[in-house]
Amino acid sequence: MTPRLEISISKIAHNAKVLCDLYALKGIELIGITKVVCGNVLIAKALVESGIKTLGDSRIVNIERMKKANVKAEFLLLRSPLISELKDVVYYADISLNSELFIIKAISKVAEKLKRVHRIILMVELGDLREGVMPKDVDDYVKEILKLKGVKMVGLGTNLACFGGVRPDNDKMKELSELTAQIEKKYKLELKYVSGGNSANYNWLTSTDSQHRINNLRVGESIFLGCESIDREPIAGLFTDAFKLVAEVIESKKKPSVPYGDICQNSEGTTVVFENLGEMQRVIFALGHQDVKVAGLTPLLDVEIIGASSDHLIVNAQEEIFNIGGETGFRLNYSALLAAMVSPYVEKQIN
Ligand SMILES: *Cc1c(COP(=O)(O)O)cnc(C)c1O
Repeated sequence: MTPRLEISISKIAHNAKVLCDLYALKGIELIGITKVVCGNVLIAKALVESGIKTLGDSRIVNIERMKKANVKAEFLLLRSPLISELKDVVYYADISLNSELFIIKAISKVAEKLKRVHRIILMVELGDLREGVMPKDVDDYVKEILKLKGVKMVGLGTNLACFGGVRPDNDKMKELSELTAQIEKKYKLELKYVSGGNSANYNWLTSTDSQHRINNLRVGESIFLGCESIDREPIAGLFTDAFKLVAEVIESKKKPSVPYGDICQNSEGTTVVFENLGEMQRVIFALGHQDVKVAGLTPLLDVEIIGASSDHLIVNAQEEIFNIGGETGFRLNYSALLAAMVSPYVEKQIN
């Protein structure tokens, strides 16, 4: 069946093991992030077998599924718990990342009712401007959190290079580490997690001579795509081809390179402009915006993606030969992988 996402479990497992070992050499525990594979149970089990002890996901439904499928890991909820899902959060997640006192207090109440203690890592804003408490407010937050009986404060974390594209560098890691030291000293705490970021921290970690207090990273993209996430450079020793999207040819014809007639908006609401390259062999694949983020695809053959609509991908075949019904593979970047994983139209073939 196509479109089909071919997933190599053994390549993912290899990447996870290599990264686990590499980070362990630096005293860093790696949390494997499963959100891009929608908390897939088979993949989650492979990560655990590769040495990952904690899995993180942004959705509590994914954590619930993994837990019910007996994946033997601790579970971290990455996105702040929603007020409307706190019971499930306390029930299924062992730890969560948090940035709102209102929510932390509500978690504590629910946890007390369920006779549990939920662990929390407080997220600190260091400039990327997604989630996190401003550094000057961290002290006040901790003071309040320590009064609560249903939650245990177990660490500080930050997330960079996600929204604002701010580089996790020595200064940022030092700031988080110093904050940790201040909080530990003032409140006589020992914080188990100083969680410095995600796949984007790779370059910093492998080039720095001072890790400060960072002892934890939450990594998804590097495990699945084999690259760091600042310049998307491959990491030595990792597979970059654990995923392949396969699509099928439904038309192949010689046609002009420029639309002709009275030009108006297309289905995307844009007016497209094409350079006149004369006639070309135009191939249509049964693949579109309903299946994947087309901009994140790279064909495995030497062809050029011209564009797409919801169900058609149009390609300039250049020198390649295509048969109707034939299949071709594409590499995916992180956002294309995410879209293919969530699309119900894409078959997931786990090998
Ligand atoms: C998605 C996410 C990660 C993992 O990011 P990668 O770039 O896939 O390594 C880590 N932390 C948080 C808070 C996230 O949302």
